[in-house]
Amino acid sequence: ASVARQQAVPGLPTLQRYEDQDGQRRMAIALREAVRLEQITLAYQPKVALATGRLAGVEALARWVLPDGTAVPPSEFIPLAERRGLIGALGDSVMDTALAQIRAWCDDGLPAPVVAVNFSALQFQRENPTQRLALAMDRHGVPAGLLELELTESLLIGDIDVVMQSLRTFRDLGVTLSIDDFGTGYSSLAYLRRFPIQYLKIDRQFVSAMASDTSACEIVRLIVEMAHRLNLRCIAEGIETVAQLELLKAMGCDEGQGFLLARPMPPLAMDEVLAGRLPWAHLFDGEAAATQ
Ligand code: C2E
Ligand code: MG
Ligand code: MG
Ligand code: MG
Repeated sequence: ASVARQQAVPGLPTLQRYEDQDGQRRMAIALREAVRLEQITLAYQPKVALATGRLAGVEALARWVLPDGTAVPPSEFIPLAERRGLIGALGDSVMDTALAQIRAWCDDGLPAPVVAVNFSALQFQRENPTQRLALAMDRHGVPAGLLELELTESLLIGDIDVVMQSLRTFRDLGVTLSIDDFGTGYSSLAYLRRFPIQYLKIDRQFVSAMASDTSACEIVRLIVEMAHRLNLRCIAEGIETVAQLELLKAMGCDEGQGFLLARPMPPLAMDEVLAGRLPWAHLFDGEAAATQ
């Protein structure tokens, strides 16, 4: 249905015009329109349990394709939405789509995975972010246990007390909280003391470098150890090679995510994965391979 609605929008900006003020303004208008027409879709990237090769969850990643077929990367439209006051509407739309997808998987009799949604720090500054989320979960009949929020260190900017209160409420609802891109922030360790989180995502920059750079490798090892001592789970993002995967397995890192295992995929492709056809099974022995 959403394809039929993607008629040409006159005067739609092209990416080249995005640089200047006017181009940005037009792009923001197009984004607002895309949100309104429900043209922001989600791709799902599997998270894999490294001890077994089982599916551990998925991350929902926003996708925006212009009517001319150009895909605008989230690294462009998320900051644009944040600057232009659109992140609230975009965040609501993403959450709604993710919850509807969880419901659809359940209704189709598939084992719905925990879905991790990226949550901008600015979404905490809206009125009643926790009640908004609780209502959305209710509306879709999705239990909080199937939802995870990925947060970044930008949370430390702004009113910490307000953020902290929201985080506690999310926790009390039963939503899993994780810190994304862990290790890149100037004050990452402050999170561990202050925020009621359960899960660390080790940033891709350490993972990419770990097979060739001993210090990156030791940093990853340290984060895994620290996470476990603090009773947190950890996941490595951006796994692209077998060497990286094997190092992470040997370190006891709980989960992994990356192009080697699976790329972000449309919901239909996820159905296959949920049905037990795991494209990464050959990288694991034992259980996961057995389900092939
Ligand atoms: P992120 O949350 O850290 O997501 C991981 C990004 O790394 C995704 O890029 C994913 O496609 C990419 N990735 C995964 N595995 C690999 C790999 O093995 N190698 C490489 N090179 N890349 C890999 P994507 O989808 O372009 O998203 C970029 C960022 O945009 C995300 O980083 C997140 O911060 C933000 N974002 C995406 N969707 C949303 C959303 O719905 N809301 C908010 N607030 N932010 C979002
Ligand atoms: Mg993320
Ligand atoms: Mg990340
Ligand atoms: Mg990242």
